[in-house]
Amino acid sequence: MTPPSPLLSVDDLVVQYRRPGAPPTRAVAGVSLEVRAGEVVGLVGESGCGKSTLARAVCGLTAPKDGRITFDGTPVRPLKVRRRDPALTAIQMVFQDPYGSLNPRRRVGTQIADGIRAGAARGDKGEAATPEEYLTRVGLPESAAQRYPQEFSGGQRQRIAIARALAARPRLLVGDEPISALDASAQLQVATLMRSLAVESGAGLLFISHDLSVVRLIADRIAVMYLGRIVETGPTAQVWDSPRHPYTQALLAAIPQPDGAGLLPAELPGDVPDPSAPPSGCRFHPRCPRAFDGCDHEEPQLIAGGVACRLYAA
Ligand code: SF4
Repeated sequence: MTPPSPLLSVDDLVVQYRRPGAPPTRAVAGVSLEVRAGEVVGLVGESGCGKSTLARAVCGLTAPKDGRITFDGTPVRPLKVRRRDPALTAIQMVFQDPYGSLNPRRRVGTQIADGIRAGAARGDKGEAATPEEYLTRVGLPESAAQRYPQEFSGGQRQRIAIARALAARPRLLVGDEPISALDASAQLQVATLMRSLAVESGAGLLFISHDLSVVRLIADRIAVMYLGRIVETGPTAQVWDSPRHPYTQALLAAIPQPDGAGLLPAELPGDVPDPSAPPSGCRFHPRCPRAFDGCDHEEPQLIAGGVACRLYAA
């Protein structure tokens, strides 16, 4: 059976930014990615690898230098250019910081009503629901509509942010580290809630996190990003059970074990290099335990099997 065409297509995307007195930095250096309706794609990698920059570009909050982003066949253009194209309110983002993303001076119900209006403004004919109904869907009482964001815990605020995003009846939900500021107990609840709400409504979900163990539980496919590039991608079970790229293998080796044995030693020496001066050849070579002759000057491409490493080159 032919798979449905992608809802979101990112093709060879480059996002570059400049800081005064510093060379231009390619935070995203040629990334291609797809998300289909009803599919959850987990994008993982360490801080500074470009995940959040990619998320912002997908939502039109950052202008790419090169490449293409299309949503349901329509090019996604940055906000300044499209002046809040109502059609693109069908992409909704849930941010990392549940404190900063809600207005502390407006009642929760009023903020969710903003989302409902955004969905209606693009002519969405879906079922109309009230702010109270959206609150119920995210596990909060209807009475929360009359209260202010600061009256809630971090996990509850993130549920409110999700309710506001859902109220716009998105076809694509983008979560940019939506669980990293939450207590451990709230992390899995919020992640599974985002998955079930997206899948129930037939929307796609791009879930960005540095926590591979949570992503594994909610994603259909995983893409692993390192220093602005995707280094491995595939169905979740394949990436989790048989990781091929040495970076993915090291990320998995650093995950705490359920038997309480504590952290396995991460094999990676050093930190993610400065993206304004990426290493030559394979960007991972200075930290790679399996680097060999040529890795310092030949850059591997993502091959059809979903891995960008010279160990697997034909
Ligand atoms: Fe390691 Fe070489 Fe593969 Fe890069 S190309 S991940 S340095 S083995």
